[in-house]
Amino acid sequence: MPGGVSSPVRAFKTVGGTPIYFARGAGAVLTDLDGNEYIDYVGSWGALMLGHADDRIEAAIGKATARGTSFGAPSELETHLAELIIARLPSVEMVRFVSSGTEATMSAVRLARAATGRDQIIKCAGCYHGHVDALLVQAGSGAMTLGVPSSPGVPRGTAADTIVVPFNDLAAVEQAFAAHPDTIAAMLVEPIAGNMGLIPPEPGYLQGLRGLCDRHGALLIFDEVMTGFRVSSGGAQTLYDVRPDLTCLGKILGGGLPVGAYGGRQDLMSMIAPAGPVYQAGTLSGNPVCMAAGIASLEALADAQVYETIEQKAQTLAHGLQAAASEAGVSTYHTRVGSMLCVFFTSGPVRNHADTVRCDVQAFGRFFHEMLSRGVYVPPAQFESWFVSAAHTDEQVATTLSAAAAAFGAVAKAT
Ligand code: PMP
Repeated sequence: MPGGVSSPVRAFKTVGGTPIYFARGAGAVLTDLDGNEYIDYVGSWGALMLGHADDRIEAAIGKATARGTSFGAPSELETHLAELIIARLPSVEMVRFVSSGTEATMSAVRLARAATGRDQIIKCAGCYHGHVDALLVQAGSGAMTLGVPSSPGVPRGTAADTIVVPFNDLAAVEQAFAAHPDTIAAMLVEPIAGNMGLIPPEPGYLQGLRGLCDRHGALLIFDEVMTGFRVSSGGAQTLYDVRPDLTCLGKILGGGLPVGAYGGRQDLMSMIAPAGPVYQAGTLSGNPVCMAAGIASLEALADAQVYETIEQKAQTLAHGLQAAASEAGVSTYHTRVGSMLCVFFTSGPVRNHADTVRCDVQAFGRFFHEMLSRGVYVPPAQFESWFVSAAHTDEQVATTLSAAAAAFGAVAKAT
């Protein structure tokens, strides 16, 4: 296994050391092979809104498994999960299931290109949309840059159809449309950037994107793989009241099993095969065990009170972290939306990818290991969001804050 892992960020490359091998998880706690326990703020990178081994999800999976693990044919479970999505996400009228967030964004981009007859895509520097060739393109300098692949193996021609702009910068998007009239199919964005640390959209940014896309005949695609069912039951589009044309989903939608989806306006989604000509398929798409886990996940999150309770815990945690850093004299900048948060090791502010470059990743690495040695597992990289789940208790948050006070103290001493 390259790097010993099945996905790169797990390998502790930016924080140093060796990744932990986990044996089991229960609630907010992960246990490693040596029996050490950790309060977990990774939550399978945001997939586990209910924590590990939630009873309801476990029961649903068990029941579904007993009836057969895959039909490769329609089942009622898909219909049920599709209805739950459509009821919660105001912009989604029709939905197609896939098995990962990457597949969701890849397919949504294909659909946008087909629907508009245009090839170019705008994305933001620092936003991650899965490892799709055309989207593995990140920062350039200046307000706007024609994409250069950020991985070998991505054809230059593919990357050249991706225009990269800074997050939270409407003028850059306007310039992109002006420079490439009639060739931009869509603007794809994480409505709340969660893959360069956590960066909320500034007031008016998402509304501005909506207006620009409308004016230039391009589609607005929200990648809500991370924020969907996370920042509110209706995702970021409900929180900020902006309707994208297409939405990409994953993570919480599968309750810890591999499920992705993309959906949106009916006229657009009707272009997907077999209803229309845009081809997209999957052997295990709509898999009954995964669908059952997704239904259990969304049903457990049906009550708005759940969101309020998790948010309160996240707020206590975020405030406590800020106080602990300031007490220790460590320069940090804190962001939080709902149950997602981040501690940037810079005085900030951090409003786009260029600002993240100022972070002291070495200090973060030390903080990470100080937390780990005290039984708290935060994301093993500075530029990842922390996730609080429904399973985190007030006591665990308090324990985390004691660990953080000591960890910030150790960082201060070392710098
Ligand atoms: N979009 C966003 C916003 C994500 O955070 C991720 C995964 N972190 C993806 C897409 C890709 O999803 P997956 O890893 O399931 O392919």
